Amino acid sequence: MEHRAEARIDIQAFTSNISLLKEKAGVNLLAVVKADAYGHGLIEIGLAAQNSGADWLGVALLEEAVALRTHGVSIPILAWLVPPGSDFRSAAKHDIDIAVASLAVLDEIRLLEIKPRIHIEVDTGMTRGGFLDEWHELLESDLTPFEIIGIFSHFARADEPLEKQNLDQLNLFQGKVRELSDIGINPPIKHLSNSAATFLNHTAAFDMVRTGIAMYGLTPEIVEMGTSKDLSLKPVMQLRAKLHLVKKVPAGSSVGYGATATTERDTTLGVVAMGYADGIPRISTAAGVFIDGNRAPIMGRVSMDQFVVDLGPESTAKSGDWVVIFGDGSRGEYTADDWASTSLSINYEIVTRIGPRVPRIYAPHVY
Ligand SMILES: *Cc1c(COP(=O)(O)O)cnc(C)c1O
Repeated sequence: MEHRAEARIDIQAFTSNISLLKEKAGVNLLAVVKADAYGHGLIEIGLAAQNSGADWLGVALLEEAVALRTHGVSIPILAWLVPPGSDFRSAAKHDIDIAVASLAVLDEIRLLEIKPRIHIEVDTGMTRGGFLDEWHELLESDLTPFEIIGIFSHFARADEPLEKQNLDQLNLFQGKVRELSDIGINPPIKHLSNSAATFLNHTAAFDMVRTGIAMYGLTPEIVEMGTSKDLSLKPVMQLRAKLHLVKKVPAGSSVGYGATATTERDTTLGVVAMGYADGIPRISTAAGVFIDGNRAPIMGRVSMDQFVVDLGPESTAKSGDWVVIFGDGSRGEYTADDWASTSLSINYEIVTRIGPRVPRIYAPHVY
């Protein structure tokens, strides 16, 4: 039996990206595998990262970290979206490091009389995660019940290296490190860089970089930093689907909900067996699929489970043929970046939102 659609995940490409990033970073590498490893599969990618020389894994949720532990990940794992009320006992039990960004979490952990490994997250100007207004109270509180492994922050504009905010955040981070040091706390692992900073900002590497998108072979920002290829990254995911139907239609046929597109000539249309429920952006009108060496553009609106493409009058495609929705672009197919740019999105969102009913196949890409 074959699936109607699949995301093919090339582990060799993933491994090659990790090697490249480790070389760029020159320090320990934390592989970010949150959100089902950006849609690539949490456990498979977590284990592949461990086998490819990643020093740490990073996730948002504690549940993601526990799943990695119970599936054989033995390297350190950091979870950084762990609000009050989380299962801190299980973090301690599974040897999972947690990021702490509020006094409320420290108070809860104190009451539990456990000693999980923590990383203090500081807000250096992104104004999202991390200590900001509670920082001075933190410095005055009793931190002896905690095993403080790390201090970290996150860049808001690492993909725009000339922006002054990068230097401001770096300086502020160093200041916070000093303030902690002044009260006798010197966390061994200071970390600040994401993928973009790993390429562009070597002074921000400290003891570890946290790479996500680049490990999956995608550029952090195509305008500022260039394509995957420009960065020597290999896109890991190829998305394919079958043509559910192929049909010849006359000029003047309106296609799809709202009849937003009309064929301008007699042509052959293909109905692709994926839709917005699978993560195909409904807003996309300018992307399409790749078949028999040609691009076939979308016609009309993307539906929940399917969308229509114009295969052209000369097409010999048949129902059941595979089409490539996105790949690494080397054969002329659309890329995740093409889908992003035609749907007011970013490549992060394109791969992360490929839905759970699309099987992930751990095998090389096919054409
Ligand atoms: C998601 C995330 C990263 C990875 O960012 P990329 O741009 O994908 O490299 C790093 N650090 C934190 C705290 C994150 O949330």
